[in-house]
Amino acid sequence: MLYDVVVVGAGPAGAIAAYDCARAGLRTLLLEKYQLPREKPCGGAVMYRGLRILQGNIPSRLIEQKIHGLRFKLPSGESAEFTSDKLIGITVFRDRFDEFLARRAEEAGAELLEGTRVTNASVDERIASVEIKKGGTYKAKILIGADGVNSVVAKSLKLRPERKNLCRVGLGMESDFHVGEEGVIKATNGNPSILEILPVEGRVSYGWIFPKRERLAIGIAGAAAQMYPLRPSFEHFYRDLENRFGMKLTPERRRTHFLGADGVTSVNVTTRALLVGDAAGFVDPMMGEGIAYAMQSGVYAAQVAAAAIEADRYDSEFLESYQHLCVDEFGDNFQMAEWAGLRGTSFAEFVLTRARGHPLASDIMTKLARGELGYSRIPYYVLRKLPRELPGIIQRIVLSSINTSS
Ligand SMILES: Cc1cc2nc3c(=O)[nH]c(=O)nc-3n(C[C@H](O)[C@H](O)[C@H](O)COP(=O)(O)OP(=O)(O)OC[C@H]3O[C@@H](n4cnc5c(N)ncnc54)[C@H](O)[C@@H]3O)c2cc1C
Repeated sequence: MLYDVVVVGAGPAGAIAAYDCARAGLRTLLLEKYQLPREKPCGGAVMYRGLRILQGNIPSRLIEQKIHGLRFKLPSGESAEFTSDKLIGITVFRDRFDEFLARRAEEAGAELLEGTRVTNASVDERIASVEIKKGGTYKAKILIGADGVNSVVAKSLKLRPERKNLCRVGLGMESDFHVGEEGVIKATNGNPSILEILPVEGRVSYGWIFPKRERLAIGIAGAAAQMYPLRPSFEHFYRDLENRFGMKLTPERRRTHFLGADGVTSVNVTTRALLVGDAAGFVDPMMGEGIAYAMQSGVYAAQVAAAAIEADRYDSEFLESYQHLCVDEFGDNFQMAEWAGLRGTSFAEFVLTRARGHPLASDIMTKLARGELGYSRIPYYVLRKLPRELPGIIQRIVLSSINTSS
């Protein structure tokens, strides 16, 4: 049977793409190598930017914590906290969240085949095909590669031959730690609605503590070349937290995974095929956040696939509009994040210590997380707000100078 669209990989990018394709009336096949629910190494923080796509249709059983703030611990030991009355994200368990998205696509009409590993993909002017490990081939008018950072589709189509270059990819290790509800309250100083980001001693990388209901998701990530040896660094990191929290932390299962953040500078489109999510490298190069970008790229891929089928155009020039949509939406964010990331922790410390506690900074952080403001619009936003905020800013500068000199 000839499908309109074959989507490889049922993570957030693939499941959202398959859902939207099915809703657009396209004959859609979603292939996933594991049985669902499957594990995914991830902190499980889904920013509101991604949740918007679900229009609030997310079962409450999937929501571990509602997130209303971010706290950055700085190398100096100080911290900068930004909170909001508005929801900026949620924490989830990825196995359950991703299964929900995949079943949602199935209910919308996509055919979901679990335990189906794709081993090769090919395209030509007439057709797109994928080969399956257990034997057989599926054919479609359009192929969407949503099979994560080690994408077989990207490799087969020669869109990402160099992903294994450790200088260009990120690497992370994380685990959930069961500490009970009381442990979560204790570790978060009574406020489990805050995501905490903190430096990793002696490394240009960062760690995180993301509260769940009865667990803490704790992890570290950074440029892959600088992360080795990974396991001892991770152990050192959470042992330090044991001292801080005054409680024993036992990892349930250490998981490690690459991150590729080369999306806006790479080619993600070829004849009859599009890459989405991690397969395309749509990950924030500074923070490694990727779920919301994966979901949004899935939306755009489905939109362009439907337009291509409607127009009967499968050439890369036509499909290139997908890359333009993605670059317009997150290109500036990624470039700014990369720029800031290259300046290291001292730059982050400089900015965050000056911004903390200021309502305008919390407002900006909230708008970024909710997808209401892009990184590159921050200077314009600040300038627009400045006249009203200026007296408060001057007061803060004067007070901080008095405190420093006394
Ligand atoms: C340690 C770590 C922590 C992270 N924490 C966060 C976080 O807290 N918040 C955040 O926003 N982002 C986080 N990220 C990034 C985030 O996990 C990814 O950006 C996101 O999962 C991308 O979604 P995706 O659908 O593109 O890919 P994936 O979620 O990787 O899904 C790909 C799917 O394809 C399937 N697949 C792979 N190969 C094949 C094949 N050959 N055949 C068929 N199926 C295949 C896989 O089984 C998988 O289900 C983290 C990443 C790491 C490594």
